[in-house]
Amino acid sequence: MPGQIPDSTTELSSIALDSLKGVGPSLRLRLAGLHLHNVQDLLFHLPLRYQDRTRIAPIGRVRLGQDVMLEAEVLSCDIEFGRRRSLVCRIKDGTGLISLRFFHFSAAQKTMLSPGAHLRCFGEIRPGKTGFEIYHPEYQIIKTGEELPLSNSLTPIYPATEGLQQTRLRNLIDQALGMLAPDTLRDWIPATVLGSALGHAGWPTLAQALRYLHHPPVNAPIQQLLDGEHPAQQRLAFEELLSHRLCLRRLRQLSGSQRAPVLQPEASASLRQRFLKQLPFSLTTAQHKVSEEIRADLSQTNPMLRLLQGDVGSGKTVVAALAALQAVDCGYQAAIMAPTELLAEQHYANFSQWLEPLGIQPGWLSGKVKGRQRAAALQAIGDGTAPVVIGTHALFQDEVRFHRLGLVIIDEQHRFGVHQRLALREKGSSEHARPHQLVMTATPIPRTLAMSAYADLDVSIINELPPGRTPVNTVIIANTRRPEVIERIHQACRDGSQAYWVCTLIEESEALECQAAEVTAQELQIQLPDLRIGLVHGRMKSVEKTHVMDAFKSGELNLLVATTVIEVGVDVPNASLMIIENPERLGLAQLHQLRGRVGRGARASHCLLLYQTPLSLQGKQRLGIMRDSTDGFYIAEQDLILRGPGQVLGTQQTGLMSFRMADLVRDADLLDPVKSAADLLEQDYPTHVGPLIERWLGDRELYGNV
Ligand code: ADP
Ligand code: MG
Repeated sequence: MPGQIPDSTTELSSIALDSLKGVGPSLRLRLAGLHLHNVQDLLFHLPLRYQDRTRIAPIGRVRLGQDVMLEAEVLSCDIEFGRRRSLVCRIKDGTGLISLRFFHFSAAQKTMLSPGAHLRCFGEIRPGKTGFEIYHPEYQIIKTGEELPLSNSLTPIYPATEGLQQTRLRNLIDQALGMLAPDTLRDWIPATVLGSALGHAGWPTLAQALRYLHHPPVNAPIQQLLDGEHPAQQRLAFEELLSHRLCLRRLRQLSGSQRAPVLQPEASASLRQRFLKQLPFSLTTAQHKVSEEIRADLSQTNPMLRLLQGDVGSGKTVVAALAALQAVDCGYQAAIMAPTELLAEQHYANFSQWLEPLGIQPGWLSGKVKGRQRAAALQAIGDGTAPVVIGTHALFQDEVRFHRLGLVIIDEQHRFGVHQRLALREKGSSEHARPHQLVMTATPIPRTLAMSAYADLDVSIINELPPGRTPVNTVIIANTRRPEVIERIHQACRDGSQAYWVCTLIEESEALECQAAEVTAQELQIQLPDLRIGLVHGRMKSVEKTHVMDAFKSGELNLLVATTVIEVGVDVPNASLMIIENPERLGLAQLHQLRGRVGRGARASHCLLLYQTPLSLQGKQRLGIMRDSTDGFYIAEQDLILRGPGQVLGTQQTGLMSFRMADLVRDADLLDPVKSAADLLEQDYPTHVGPLIERWLGDRELYGNV
């Protein structure tokens, strides 16, 4: 209710924002847009950075990029007519001269800033025509004899939106701080929990941390604050990570309380044995181990939620097939979903080859399956004649009804968002049971990310490659040496090997990328007239793609020019040379995936990273990592350090990873303490879990309805 004054012991989380001074309906809407609904939310709306308005800087000592407050006298104020008209005001103090520049200004402003006037201004120092300049500073004229007060704390800059100014937010947050008391804001992490998780008790309390961060004192270590390393920030980062973890754990418990089909085949009638017998190789120790983990999960009464990690080429598909067969053996269906058409087709081809001898005809569904074919596919899925179904995300559209779905397998999980992962759990669920879920990823997920983004999953890791692989030798070459590279392809193909030429994304446009690949294929054909060259890209019809892929597989084609569509799944052991054009445009994890397409046979393989000159320092560093390592986990960790979690997990995941205070790279050392605090809290203070999740995640629905 507007104007209603809450009791001084009411929890701030239950006080609506319109009880604050100055909050009407329109402001309330704007605040809601920032996920601010109650007074507690305001306290946890934390500054992005700080400005120092506690002191006046001498003009002679300002540096580029600094935000500074100046006090000075106006020397001149003139309109400059250039490409853009601007008002330029020269000011000086006892130490130097600087210009203020306004692109939007009024006549009144010009008069006010006339020579001799004294002013105080604030803004960022940037390079300008007249030397250092400040564009559109905030400023105030000082009347003779007047003394303007200085701020006695650093000025917080908050995340804001259109139509909501910093001063307004500051005012509201100050009101909220005025209501902050032990009764009104509960600290849900008992000091004992914090102390035993961290092994020290050196952090401020929750209330102290909040007060400090909204108003850091004059002498606050500003660099430490900007870096997020201050104990007050660490205290909150810890709490934020803890609440994310608790939220994912809650999801996990939720599924633990659900029932799943018990997939426990009789030992005698096992498709598994027949399948293993007809495989041309035997499982590696690691494949065997994870396969047993999965087998045990599937025979439980609650749904499996398992992440299968294994470096590219480690043989995850066979493990998936074994899991699928366990479902089939028990009279259930298994669905296998891949993120791209091409990868789904590869799986379809593999599964068909493996399962048909066992008398199983896999079903196939993608967005491109239309008309009568689609109706037939839907029918086979619906009546159970397709015990194993392979496809793209089309498998999870509403019109698709499974007969008896027992297991969902998602390949290359990182391409799908967390939301999708959760949505898929719903698919095929009935009142009584939900299917088991296996997600597979070839992008090794650094432990820090795994602990936060996948805390709701059990993890199995395939940590060895099948025998007989030779590590890929990676070379970094400037594109000025293209002729040598082309000669190298010639050589390799003459020796009976095959090669890939990968064209990378140009400015996020698939169309342009495909075009570039077409042009490249034509050029290479001119330069290598005796080679048979094929082309695949994302805009080709799927029959055409399949046709080209088959031709490459069977050795009819020597060289395959492709876009990054071949990143995942393509498996041609005879290919031993890969050229990646403009590798500096790609993430390391993606390069690692691409490179994994070679080195699958007995032949020594090479990957040439053909970069565009000049290469930035960071670019050099990143390609250097590729050259020096073939360990997917190491590469992913380096990528995480260099580019951050959003990039490593793919953009779909960035929502999940946008913490307010925490930073997974910077705060990696908090993750183990967070884990133990989560355990303690769940065990000894179960009632604290809900409010903590609510406080940090509130209406954000990152993880669906918890
Ligand atoms: P990924 O883990 O990248 O999905 P795949 O499942 O595509 O790897 O397997 C890569 C290649 O290794 C395939 O050709 C597959 O048949 C082969 N492979 C898988 N397991 C073994 C094994 N135990 N021994 C030999 N080759 C294997
Ligand atoms: Mg795979």
